[in-house]
Amino acid sequence: MDFNDYQKRALTTNLTKDDRFLELMQQVLGLADEAGEVQSIFKKWIRDQDADFAKLDKANVTKELGDVLWYIAVIAHDLDIRLEDIAAANIEKLRSRKVRGTLTGSGDNR
Ligand SMILES: [Mg+2]
Repeated sequence: MDFNDYQKRALTTNLTKDDRFLELMQQVLGLADEAGEVQSIFKKWIRDQDADFAKLDKANVTKELGDVLWYIAVIAHDLDIRLEDIAAANIEKLRSRKVRGTLTGSGDNR
């Protein structure tokens, strides 16, 4: 499945609202919520499993990262952005930083 196919399929499970702003904000909040669920898995892994990689629940990590991906795909669609374009732009940004030796450091536009 490629990025555009995924984005199309994700949209088939999106519950839309008549108010575009409310729909977008619901999705942005959902993205933060799902990112928090990823963080929670790792917090509990550190707290309860002493960060033992053999005990990390990768199936749950996979599920929650999928939820993050779903929100990214739907938010992007709402803003008329193709998921494939997000992926390509991100890889190009990081490739450029690597070539220029700026993968480390701070600032979005380095
Ligand atoms: Mg979730």
